[in-house]
Parts: sequence; C-alpha cells; structure tokens
Amino acid sequence: MNKMYYRIRNSIKKSLLDLLQILDNVNLDGIVEYIRKNNCKNIITMAGAGISTSAGIPDFRSPGTGLYDNLQKYNLPHPQAIFELDFFHENPKPFFVLAKELYPGSFKPTVCHYFIKMLAEKDLLLRHYTQNIDTLERVAGIPDDKIVEAHGTFYTGHCLGCRYKYSLDWMKERIFKDEIPVCEKCPGVVKPDIVFFGENLPDRFHILIGKDFPKCDLLIVLGSSLIVQPFASLIDRVEPKVPRLLINHEKAGHQSGIMSLLGMSSGMDFDSKDNTRDVFWCGDCDEGCQLLADKLGWGDELREMVKREHESIDQSTCESKQTDKKISDTKNKDEPKDKEEAGPPPQNEDSKKP
Ligand SMILES: [Zn+2]
Repeated sequence: MNKMYYRIRNSIKKSLLDLLQILDNVNLDGIVEYIRKNNCKNIITMAGAGISTSAGIPDFRSPGTGLYDNLQKYNLPHPQAIFELDFFHENPKPFFVLAKELYPGSFKPTVCHYFIKMLAEKDLLLRHYTQNIDTLERVAGIPDDKIVEAHGTFYTGHCLGCRYKYSLDWMKERIFKDEIPVCEKCPGVVKPDIVFFGENLPDRFHILIGKDFPKCDLLIVLGSSLIVQPFASLIDRVEPKVPRLLINHEKAGHQSGIMSLLGMSSGMDFDSKDNTRDVFWCGDCDEGCQLLADKLGWGDELREMVKREHESIDQSTCESKQTDKKISDTKNKDEPKDKEEAGPPPQNEDSKKP
C-alpha cells in the first residue's frame, strides 16, 4: 500500500515538475533547444546602452567614460540638467553641443544590432524595445514597425512652441553648424524627440506593451542593467512560462525580496534551485549574440551580414565626404581665400572610444 502511494505520489510529482520544467537546460543551449522545439515566432528583445558601447557610443552611467562625467565643461548645475526640460528652456546650448558629439550617423551598428535584424528577417521578432536614443537600430535596418524607442529618438524632432515636426536631417544641418535649431513656423526651439527627465514615454510604448508582452514566447534582454523604470519592469509582463535570457556584463533585474514575499512575481530568478526559465549569459552583447547565432546555425550568415552592412556604411560615408569636399572646393573657388573652410565637421572619433 505504502509502495503504491509513493509510486503514485512520485509520478504525480514528476509530471508536475515536467509541467513546470520550462527549459531542459537552464543555459544558452537550453534557450537554443527551446527556440527549435517551440518554434518561437514572437521573440521580444529589450536593449540598453550595453548593445551600443562596442559601436563607440559612450555609456551614460559608467564612471570615467560615462557621459555624465564628461559634462563638466558645459557648466551645468548638475549633470542630469542637460536632459531636464526646465534647464533646456533656460539654456538649450549645452544639450545641442552634446547632441552634435553623439549625433547618429557617426557610428556603425554592432553585431548585436544585426542579430536583432536577423531575428526580424527570419520572422521571429515580435518587437524590439530599446532604451537607446542613438537610432542604431534604424541604421541597422531593423524595420521601423518592429522598433519601440522607449526613451525617444533623435530621428525626429518637434518645435516646443507649435509642435511642428522636423526630420533628423533638418535638425542635423543646424546642429552641425553649431546653431540652435529654431522653428520655421514660430520662434520656438526644435527639440529632438528624446525623452527628457519628467517627460512621458512615447504613446507607442504604452500602446504596444499591452499588446506584445502577453504574446511573447521568448524574452531576450541585451546590455541593460534593468534599473530605469518603467522599462525595467517589462520583464515581468511576459507569461510565467516564458523563458527570459539576459546577456550582460552583470546579473540584473533580480527578484526583490519584498515583492516575492508578497507572492508577486517580480524580477529575474537566476539563482534559485527551482529556476527553469531565467538564463544569464555573462559577457559582451556582441559575443553573446554571435554565440547564440552560431548555436542556432546562423553564425556565418550573421558574420556576412555585419561585413556587408559595415562595408556599405563605409562606402556611403566615403561618398558623402567626397560630396562635401566637392561642395567645399566649389565654395572656396567662389569665395575669398580668408573665409573659414567649409566641409564636414570634425568627428573626434578617438574621443568617443570608451
Ligand atoms: Zn514652432
């Protein structure tokens, strides 16, 4: 009788564990098996500054190389002031000096960006949520409808007076001439659509999170320390049976003690013995994505895509420099010699390297 009881009990326990066993192996191989076995079609990727650092874009927060540490020259009351609307109304100059330094177009997307593009091309990507304002997702060619720029973008701008919309090129022309972009319809300043402190996140973010996350069948978090809200809490919007992979230099998004005591699912759960869904891969986003692609059998395809796309960016940069030079040569011929030389502004590539 006792034997029978234990046999039934053990078999029920095993079936329950099987039911709860989301990944057979709680590592990158387990994620690869899961993608294959479950025929994932609704992958959501979430990205932070870590996916753009290898492109040479400075991280906002790292000490020494972080952007905030390099803002002293602008005489700000405090570093964050550069992204505060009140200060911007008072003195927009420091923001535009910084914007010129960070301006999209001077950087190449990373392996990680192209991995996300590859997911989209293979029809596996439901959406890419990014905290970054560098527009490298768009440069990489991830389709616009797949991207949610949670903290806004330099891609468009609006007049703070009349809300008239301006393009990246329109703003860039003025910012690179060290001018403050002023509206053509009114005297308002045109601010790129990046989200400043105290501003609401874009409507697109709020609308799409409600639709996307219940459908998600795999969540991949890339290069984010999962600190800034409400972005960080998105990881809890996927169903409890959905695996979550974090590729980052350190563990992030941990379960908070209070929330778990209250019985609310909250945060990543890498270290508990019951964890069969949360995978942490420690390291560089480019290496992690290339390894994942290799394991999925897409490694060479990704390497070729990066090579081809980078060559094409190099070629168009070279062509636009030649065009700029031609324009400048023509101008110099027409204008007196002592005029300041026109042409493309210096890029200071070296100063941007981390
Ligand atoms: Zn205006």
